[in-house]
Amino acid sequence: MSLSFRDLISSLTALRLVSHVPVIAHVDLNSLGEIDGGGATFLSALMNRIDTIMMPVFTYRTMIIPATGPENNGIIYNHRKAPHTHSEFFNPGMPADLEMGEVAELLRREPGALRSNHPVFFFTSIGVDATLRAQSVSDPLAPLRVLAELEGWVLLAGSDHTRNFNLHLAEQMAGRKTFIRWALTPDRIVELPNTPGCSRGFNQFAPLVEKIARQVRIGEGLLSTIPLRPMLHLAYDLMQADPNALLCNDPGCLMCDSIRQQTSSD
Ligand SMILES: [Zn+2]
Repeated sequence: MSLSFRDLISSLTALRLVSHVPVIAHVDLNSLGEIDGGGATFLSALMNRIDTIMMPVFTYRTMIIPATGPENNGIIYNHRKAPHTHSEFFNPGMPADLEMGEVAELLRREPGALRSNHPVFFFTSIGVDATLRAQSVSDPLAPLRVLAELEGWVLLAGSDHTRNFNLHLAEQMAGRKTFIRWALTPDRIVELPNTPGCSRGFNQFAPLVEKIARQVRIGEGLLSTIPLRPMLHLAYDLMQADPNALLCNDPGCLMCDSIRQQTSSD
């Protein structure tokens, strides 16, 4: 049986989110099962319950890999000097990558939605403009820091922690290494310092966060909300106790490998 607008409203209500408290939402509709009217219904239910919503609408396709660059940067450089056939020029009207999900793209197109100005890690929001204004090319995670100052919450809708991008801010707070990447813009190639690493190990965080999260089953998946600031502190403490926490187990992961090298030399 597919989920209706009313089902969504009652589940979101059960999470006891306060309408004026800003929320960053990470939505994976595929994990929730069928919804009458799809992503549009989900977004109207969300906007019915919450006045101020922010979502990541990233565009990894603007990234380009140069022929050379800094050492130990979690990347294989493009030594063949092949043309940038797979990269697209950044433009402010670009849609979000498909893997960001349908709801993120629908929010971006919503009347009144604003977007930040980073060529890869851009966010869109209704009502939380201060978070967007804080972002710069060298400080991609600034919107999350402002959201934490505003006592914002994280909503994971059908998403696991591998999509909980906010944990990268805890990594930054813990002094974890970041990376340099590059984006193609119409004027030039822009260097992107402080690019966060890999999130494939973030599900290690799930058992820990349960004590501060509220969870509701819906359809085939789960909605969970977590207060952002306490979540960052939990993740920070975890990395203080184990500097390799939240890294993935893929032996071929250059970014996690590079962070392990840093922690073993400290
Ligand atoms: Zn990794």
